[in-house]
Amino acid sequence: PFVARRNYQPNANANANRNNQTHSSPRRQKIIEQRKSLPIASVEKRLIEEVQKNDILIIVGETGSGKTTQIPQFLFHAGFCHDGKVVGITQPRRVAAITVAKRVAEECGYELGQKVGYSVRFDDSTSNSTRIKYMTDGLLLREALLDPYLSKYSVIIVDEAHERTVHTDVLMGLLKKVQHARSNSIKDGRNLDNGNKNTNGFMLLDKDNGQNGSFLRKGHREKSSPLKLIIMSASLDARTFSEYFGGAKAVHIQGRQFPVDIFYTRRPETDYVDAALITIFQVHQDEAPGDILVFLTGQEEIDAVERLIKERLSKLPQENQKLQVLPIYAALPSEQQMRAFEPAPSGFRKVILATNIAETSITIPGIKHVIDPGLVKARSYDPGKGMESLIVVPTSKSQALQRSGRAGREGPGKCFRLYPENEFEKLEDSTMPEIKRCNLSNVILQLKALGVDDILGFDFIEKPSRTAIIKSLEQLFLLGALTDDCQLSDPIGRQMARLPLDPVYAKALILASQFNCLEEMLIAVAMLSAESIFYFPREKYEEARTAAKSFASPEGDHITLINVYRAATDFLEKRTIETNKTKNEKDFRKWCKENFINSRSLRHARDIHRQIQGHVQQMGLKLASCGEDMLQFRRCLVASFFLNAAVKQPDGTYRALASGQVVQIHPSSVLFRKKPECIIFNELIQTNNKYVRDLTRVDNLWLTELAPQFYAMQN
Ligand code: ADP
Ligand code: MG
Repeated sequence: PFVARRNYQPNANANANRNNQTHSSPRRQKIIEQRKSLPIASVEKRLIEEVQKNDILIIVGETGSGKTTQIPQFLFHAGFCHDGKVVGITQPRRVAAITVAKRVAEECGYELGQKVGYSVRFDDSTSNSTRIKYMTDGLLLREALLDPYLSKYSVIIVDEAHERTVHTDVLMGLLKKVQHARSNSIKDGRNLDNGNKNTNGFMLLDKDNGQNGSFLRKGHREKSSPLKLIIMSASLDARTFSEYFGGAKAVHIQGRQFPVDIFYTRRPETDYVDAALITIFQVHQDEAPGDILVFLTGQEEIDAVERLIKERLSKLPQENQKLQVLPIYAALPSEQQMRAFEPAPSGFRKVILATNIAETSITIPGIKHVIDPGLVKARSYDPGKGMESLIVVPTSKSQALQRSGRAGREGPGKCFRLYPENEFEKLEDSTMPEIKRCNLSNVILQLKALGVDDILGFDFIEKPSRTAIIKSLEQLFLLGALTDDCQLSDPIGRQMARLPLDPVYAKALILASQFNCLEEMLIAVAMLSAESIFYFPREKYEEARTAAKSFASPEGDHITLINVYRAATDFLEKRTIETNKTKNEKDFRKWCKENFINSRSLRHARDIHRQIQGHVQQMGLKLASCGEDMLQFRRCLVASFFLNAAVKQPDGTYRALASGQVVQIHPSSVLFRKKPECIIFNELIQTNNKYVRDLTRVDNLWLTELAPQFYAMQN
């Protein structure tokens, strides 16, 4: 039953309230108009009624119909933020959480971080007054560690559920439990607000049978309230979700979609980046006005295409140069992400280079032409070998349809698929949920920390394979996070669960404090967490290599990355004395450019560094530096990443010891030409070959010495 909410006000009143806080600048007027014209605006009242009637509601609606930006505002105005409660909306991607929060704050006429805010890993804009909170699905999972009943939320919306990220899937299982626990607590008159914690700060949700004394809290301040769940999805198949939530009600929101003409290439393209470039210029020269959206696979590719477009543009006659290139991807600083949403200068055409973030998560106005090479970068996991890798794979049919749909939001559009039509027929219908193709150690560690002991028995919407679960449990055990009987170890396992990092990185930081090189490891982990620090433009390859050499360490990429980070810090610290911020920024970018360093990535790494440093300090880890003694650091790499060790074979390839796979050193590594006997690596990428990246030379004797739990029995 729905308790103690302010009565829902009909539309007219609600609108009157909203208009009170608006200034009538032209921009605001335009926003008000835009909002009114969204398909969802006409069903506000009915939607709210459905939420009031149903504790779980599934909302399916075309991309761009207004689900993500409008529904939280409807809920706010319907009184769901009464008593300081918060409406939480999860997104699979940080870019989406950030851009949408900014947009909604603007629509509401508040400063970001006041009524509307976002919270993503390493970046939190919320305050005590935040009532509409956008966040990543992973972040909400982490919040559950501190507040197992998610008691500050009155409604949680799991958005983009069709994406089926591993965090979304686990979150749905967890929310089911939390909702159950909260409604039981109301029946029993228990109060769960403000998060009851057991002594360790973790709640044993599994063991909640209503008799656990620690749940009781004396001196009730307010009564617990039920949790409303809304699952939102862009795809048409609501059945899976409805069945999972015990036959929950699903509503469908009609979208507006104009016809989109689809074009295919005659033959398969050998170089899709080149094909995309040609198509961009063809559209620019031959097609009617309207912006272009190009789907690429990642930051590196986007950066490369951006440079290539600019280069070709500069060779065109002045009047044909009116093309504005705007990248958008997760690691891009948010001011720059926001630029993709601004209209192009008059007479200009925008070309947006996006990862598949623009597929459903964000809607950029003005797109009329979509260029789709038909590829996406995805995680892939081989549970037998225990190896996760990034791999570029064909999209599914439903992804291709979503992408082409982006061209028909505001009027008829065109989509250029850079592959032949018969290839489309061969695509999978839909993408396999991530939980079936990723390493699970991260989520298992979190579930364990939440008190979910029986991982195999957890109510997953789709169960990962038994092998994958067992392999990940084994990995956590080898890292020392789990005890012999599969319990979270104390303090290692608990500390690892607290750090918002992949378990191996978390472990590396904990170990580094013992090896007296935490300063170095913090930098390494931050740099590894930011994508592609260096760039090697094809046309200036040798120049870039020479520049990179000045930072290069003969020991490998980890220390090279540390050198870059420290050089940047030195550079910036000298500048802070000067007051001119724009000039500093410009100088910094110039410095980066001269050194063929990606300034955006480096900034991102500095942000990450600041955040994790905060975490490790809070945990009381010893922040020491090993100074010149990089041996300590390299030994610590072995102790931490021993599962990623590889040894050289006579033909110059490497054999990864844990998985037996044959891999090669990626050409971007400083060790590409030197090929040491034994290496530790951090990333495996699959293209035509299997490449390892981010590696350091180590001594193979260290493996048995520093990781005997794995190598002593192997050998
Ligand atoms: P849905 O979640 O149903 O896909 P959204 O709520 O994300 O839809 O978007 C609704 C509309 O709001 C979009 O069609 C777009 O026109 C507009 N919009 C969303 N974000 C922005 C933004 N940052 N800048 C300008 N317009 C935006
Ligand atoms: Mg949306």
